[in-house]
Amino acid sequence: MAAPKVAVVGAGVVGLSTAMCIVETYPSCSVTILSDQFSPNTTSDVAAGMLIPHTYPGTPIHVQKQWFKDTFAYLFAISNSAEASEAGIHLVSGWQVFKNTPKEELPFWSDVVLGFRPMSEAELQKFPQHRFGQAFTTLKCDCPPYLLWLEKRLKATGVQMYTRKVADLWDLHSEYNVVVNCAGIGAHQLVGDEKLFPVRGQVLEVHAPWVKNFIRDGDGLTYIYPGIHRVTLGGTREEGSWSLSPDPGTTKDIFNRCCSLESSLRGAEDVQVKVGLRPSRQCVRLQRELLSQGGVKLPVVHNYGHGSGGFSMHRGTAKEAARLVGECIAALEGSSSRAKL
Ligand code: FAD
Repeated sequence: MAAPKVAVVGAGVVGLSTAMCIVETYPSCSVTILSDQFSPNTTSDVAAGMLIPHTYPGTPIHVQKQWFKDTFAYLFAISNSAEASEAGIHLVSGWQVFKNTPKEELPFWSDVVLGFRPMSEAELQKFPQHRFGQAFTTLKCDCPPYLLWLEKRLKATGVQMYTRKVADLWDLHSEYNVVVNCAGIGAHQLVGDEKLFPVRGQVLEVHAPWVKNFIRDGDGLTYIYPGIHRVTLGGTREEGSWSLSPDPGTTKDIFNRCCSLESSLRGAEDVQVKVGLRPSRQCVRLQRELLSQGGVKLPVVHNYGHGSGGFSMHRGTAKEAARLVGECIAALEGSSSRAKL
């Protein structure tokens, strides 16, 4: 069989990292990315990019932990390299604070991040409304630079990228041997997945270079995440809302909530507002499917539905998707050699 042709649909963090893992694992494949939008116009560009996992209720914890470990190890290596500033990857230390002690004092990812420990009484004095807290160091991606860095590396390995809206995965059957679906919330329409729903998120980006530590309220709704140049203030989680328009009332509310955690933010300048739709599901859809029409077959690998945790999990799920692509190629090679006999 000639070099297998693989199309990856989607150019958010999931599509780009999946294409990267396919190229690294199967260098003989010819990989093409097809997407109706590229950075800076994807949901991935809106994300805060913090590596703090959210739990997917439909996926075993040991699987989620492995995805997070793979992602953390990959980005940690970048943060320790000369590429760190271009890729927008850096370590950040801070606190997750709770008004009441959480049921689960040790989250599943506590031994993957660095230096996880309960906060001391002295640290908690900074947060008079909170009774309990966890201190740790994790990684943050500055999302647009990271996406551009991935695109640049993919182009350097010969990956082609085209702007194209795919109406039906089957439309690709005559051009490609395997199709990988990384369409994020777009998969709702593309494959009619009714289990996939948007969770709208609005965030602010501000100039506040004195803020060096992250602060996250344990309910996950209010957070302050310092990046290399800007600080992200969040946020909202509006299940089922498809609106991409910023809401001025929400902007004020986010700003006030963040100031109640970190008063110095009252001096922040140059507030910009971003909105994105988290592609949410009970579990990430990471599986093979064989499409078939009139005796013609098209193997598909789905990798979408990362919800609030696409950055935290992307490299782990990309590795698994690449492994599934390998299974599809092996099956195609098996059937082409049987056809020759
Ligand atoms: P996307 O980035 O949406 O990419 C999908 C791609 O598919 C796009 O390029 C799109 O154009 C393309 N596409 C869709 N349909 C089609 C089609 N029919 N044909 C061709 N192309 C198509 N996660 C974290 O881990 N940490 C965080 O701190 C964090 N903060 C967040 C804050 C906010 C406000 C939001 C909204 C999200 C946040 N997330 C965070 C979640 C994260 O952004 C997502 O999980 C992640 O971006 C999903 O990536 P994706 O590549 O699947 O989707």
